[in-house]
Amino acid sequence: MLDLTVIPASGATLPEVRINRHLIDGVFTPSRTGPGTSAVTPEVPGQARDGDSGWIERLSPSHGTVVSRAPIGTIQIAELAIAAARSAFDDGRWSALSGKARATVLLKVADLIEANADRMALIETLESGKPITQSRGEITGAADLWRYAAALARTLHGDSHNSLGPDMLAVVLKEPIGVVSIITPWNFPFWILSQKLPFALAAGCTCVVKPSELTPSTTVILGELLIEAGLPAGVVNIVLGYGQPVGATLAQDPRVDMVTFTGSTAVGRGIAAAASGTLKKVALELGGKNPQVIFPDADLGAAADAVVFGVYFNTGQCCNSGSRIIVHEDIAKPFTARVVELSRRVAFGDPLDPATQVGAIVSRDHGAKIDAYVTAARKAGATVALGGAALQVPGLGPQFYQPTIVTNVTPDMAIAREEVFGPVLTVLTFRTLDEALHLVNDADYGLSAGVWSENIHTCLTFARGAQAGTVWTNTWMDGFPEVTFGGVKQSGLGREIGRQGLDEFMEIKSLVMRIGRTRAPWVRPR
Ligand code: NAD
Repeated sequence: MLDLTVIPASGATLPEVRINRHLIDGVFTPSRTGPGTSAVTPEVPGQARDGDSGWIERLSPSHGTVVSRAPIGTIQIAELAIAAARSAFDDGRWSALSGKARATVLLKVADLIEANADRMALIETLESGKPITQSRGEITGAADLWRYAAALARTLHGDSHNSLGPDMLAVVLKEPIGVVSIITPWNFPFWILSQKLPFALAAGCTCVVKPSELTPSTTVILGELLIEAGLPAGVVNIVLGYGQPVGATLAQDPRVDMVTFTGSTAVGRGIAAAASGTLKKVALELGGKNPQVIFPDADLGAAADAVVFGVYFNTGQCCNSGSRIIVHEDIAKPFTARVVELSRRVAFGDPLDPATQVGAIVSRDHGAKIDAYVTAARKAGATVALGGAALQVPGLGPQFYQPTIVTNVTPDMAIAREEVFGPVLTVLTFRTLDEALHLVNDADYGLSAGVWSENIHTCLTFARGAQAGTVWTNTWMDGFPEVTFGGVKQSGLGREIGRQGLDEFMEIKSLVMRIGRTRAPWVRPR
């Protein structure tokens, strides 16, 4: 008897199918044909296309019905968008504005996002399968990122050197890097876009955005809000469709100065390779296999709750998912039992019901991938202590997965090393701090890590030794616009949000000046 908490279908009426369009040079445009024609294609997540036109129908992963349609972008459409961003940058219609003027637009966008939060949250939930309360939190939280970026736009400054000697002065300028391609995933479509776009705009860049083919709508709604807020045409362009050819074109085109990508490590590698042809700047936010280490002296109640939050939040489809815990041997059994018990109380089910904490898996293919990891672990000798199969939610489609906890795991198993991206927790054990750090660092990824202990020496020694972009101490997944974020090792390149998040979109130029006395001649007089 699994005894899980399941929220059945709420019976809410779904809105009309949303029709999305590319945004190029301030105009919303279809690819070639309109929806409802014979060119409509069924959704095949992740499948590469030849770039011809047609429409992608997005089926809600929780409800199984069509919720949006988007044109399949072509190389030509991507190139038009790049050309629009290029000329918008080159004529200075945005980059030449004062920081104050740019901040005014960004603040207006933040207000408009908040005013439209309900409709944005609804479509985000229907496309992604995440609970409506969390979609709303994502949208309103993202508005705060736009406000923070506006503050950066006004306080942006370089550096000066006034101690180079009496005749010299140097000024270090920060200049916008130019045209930026922004490629985003489906798991936090609007949040991740907002970790990039307002910072690029604050810096004075112009952009071409490609959202995931699974979750395009909130990005296109944002396009409408940008126009309403008075952003000049061509400063932000949006191209819909698949990674091939749209994303690939955005990564390799010589008119693009930088590509910033969030998604899987495999695609990130391809983007870095495509960008290398013109040596454009590349920023990558990739996968993670993030450990939480639990010491016996920790507040074990708080730790268990954070472990459960860390693994099931966003159905585990989260780059920061706390997907592996490393528990001290002395407490491993009772702690795991506590986590299993708490897991039964987490509400899985209809994402439209405000009581739901965990919704659907984004696609059928992805659900099968999650299940394959659990099956392989079972075969390799691991124990499935909870879950391990699809979850039946009364009245809804098949794309739900049970909260799953896998024990008797060894560090070499795929489930302990690779990103499952589902509601699946693996449990490893340790005896000493050194051993825990070895397990943490014996990984290809290095996005985030956590430590739970009441001993400050333990916490700080761990934090300094862990190879990760973020280390949480006695908490998990707290984030702030002010605090920069990014990964080490194969979790990424570069940083987002915080002051460093703005610097990513800037070039540095040094002005070295002689003042007062003229320069001593190099050529000797005859
Ligand atoms: P994905 O890599 O499959 O796709 C991401 C985006 O890249 C999509 O827009 C897709 O269309 C596009 N794309 C696909 N192939 C491309 C190509 N050849 N060239 C250019 N673009 C291409 O990732 P996903 O499945 O959408 O998202 C899940 C992954 O994202 C997970 O691995 C997760 O860890 C990662 N992620 C990382 C972070 C982070 O901040 N580190 C945050 C969220 C998600």
